[in-house]
Amino acid sequence: MWKTACFIIYVLVFTNQAKAELHIYLKNVDQLKAIVEELKTQNDFAPIQSIHIEYKAEPSDMVFFSASIKKSTLLGSRDNRSYILSYAPQIFQRKLSLGAAKGVLAHELAHFLDYSNRNFFQMIWLAVEAQVTDHREYEREIDRVVVSELNMGEELIQFREWLYRQLTPRQVEIKKTVYLTPREIKILKKE
Ligand SMILES: [Zn+2]
Repeated sequence: MWKTACFIIYVLVFTNQAKAELHIYLKNVDQLKAIVEELKTQNDFAPIQSIHIEYKAEPSDMVFFSASIKKSTLLGSRDNRSYILSYAPQIFQRKLSLGAAKGVLAHELAHFLDYSNRNFFQMIWLAVEAQVTDHREYEREIDRVVVSELNMGEELIQFREWLYRQLTPRQVEIKKTVYLTPREIKILKKE
């Protein structure tokens, strides 16, 4: 009798836990797309509300998200550009909370917003600059937009804390140089 009772309790506890995890963590690309669509409805993203985004799986253990423009559409009219949001599929197995996902996706959309204001030559300049510098100033400026203009500092902190848990100490040091740290985000939020 007690064995049955234990089994029932076990099943209840673990299925509920599984359900809760499904609810809290990013599990698939459809969920990722839904967050992007939700973010795009915010006023700040009005200029990029109707852009075409392609989602590209790019496995990596260090770069989990990135934003770019599809090269073949770079030369034509800005209205006909295609934007690429790359993601490492590893994220779906690494308990990335929905809040943290929202923070990093806001960062990537802020890149799209910036790209949408750049013409062909300004995009080339940005790419050249990325090759010769570590892109620190540019990435930090994008972070500042997320914190101060989009008001998503809390979500960005959640992402950075998750990110540091995925990396080696050396990789964490690099990320801390290029992007705002949770501490720096907190200070910026108070300003
Ligand atoms: Zn970035």
